[in-house]
Amino acid sequence: MDRIYLDNSATTPIAPEVFQVMMSALKEKFGNPSSLHWAGQEAKSSIEDARNTIAREIGALPEEIIFTSGATEANNLALMGTLSFSAAEKKQILVSAIEHHSVLHVVRELEKKGVEVTYLPVDENGIVDSSLVEQFIQPFTILISIMMVNNEVGSIQRIAEIGKLAHEQNILMHTDAVQAIGLHKIDVNELNVDLMSISAHKIYGPKGIGALYIKKGTLMQAILFGGPQEMGLRAGTENVSGILGFGKAVGLLADHRTGDYVHIQELKDRLINGLSQSIKNIHFNGSPEGTSPHILSVSFPGVDGEALLVHLNKLGIAVSMGSACNSKSIEPSHVLLAMGMSKELMSGTIRISLGRFSTEEEVDCFLRVLPEFVRSSQILA
Ligand code: PMP
Repeated sequence: MDRIYLDNSATTPIAPEVFQVMMSALKEKFGNPSSLHWAGQEAKSSIEDARNTIAREIGALPEEIIFTSGATEANNLALMGTLSFSAAEKKQILVSAIEHHSVLHVVRELEKKGVEVTYLPVDENGIVDSSLVEQFIQPFTILISIMMVNNEVGSIQRIAEIGKLAHEQNILMHTDAVQAIGLHKIDVNELNVDLMSISAHKIYGPKGIGALYIKKGTLMQAILFGGPQEMGLRAGTENVSGILGFGKAVGLLADHRTGDYVHIQELKDRLINGLSQSIKNIHFNGSPEGTSPHILSVSFPGVDGEALLVHLNKLGIAVSMGSACNSKSIEPSHVLLAMGMSKELMSGTIRISLGRFSTEEEVDCFLRVLPEFVRSSQILA
């Protein structure tokens, strides 16, 4: 049996078109973009092309895009950069309880420096109640940071609504759109955000490259110091091949997004139907209409999720426990906890995530091998 990859929200395979662009960039665009000679200027101008492509795709200006080493750095820059610019004595930041650790661990650091951090609760479907946000806002709230699509359960947040509320109160709005941009058309103006993080390796681009959208006029400080690259906001020689691959991956979205969405939603429906028919004791996390098509979080009471993962891996099938970022830790998932799930049910939870290259045959193969393991574990439990 061929190997089956169902972990696309951890990372996606590289699109062949992206691979081509990167191979030629590594060879041809070797100059340092800061150099004034032809080699540098060729690299520089191809970076600007990629910046233009990304800006156009999200309705931004090219100068509003800052390349970073990924979304982790983009999230760090968004939060640290704006909070440290503000000279106010009292500062508050609102984040949802289900943010990625590249937001939650940053606000933990900010908390140590005296910033007040408020964690917005989510309902049992992993959605922040936007009508609740207003009651947590204080006169000294600087920033609200809420992810667009959650990476563990796929829940979609009402960012435009919350961003509007933030702007009415002169508060900055940041969203981590890493899991959203591949399947959901984003216009930063319609979304009412000042800052938005994205990453190439979740949209068939390379790892180690991402970007932060920073709305013109947003006051911020760099968090990396050195050369003058990226308008002084991100020092360091640019990852030219990464940026060009990222640009290509984003450029492909316009052609692929609708087709990908339909294809991936069909596969998810197939998975849900197949699992519901073959396993009685099963729990799907997040509501079907409130989650992005590519993520399916599912819990099997009485099953050891880790043992299931190992079993599937032996058969060549890659899925994830909750979230890949958590898989080496024994900590229970903060996302499932915030959704009110018991620790027992949590331990029987896996995340199946689909992508452009996933096929019906792969889903059917998964559906053939999974129920037997689940049912036999449930009988023993
Ligand atoms: N935010 C979310 C929602 C993610 O899923 C990830 C990747 N797991 C990140 C941030 C971090 O992105 P990167 O790997 O580019 O640092």
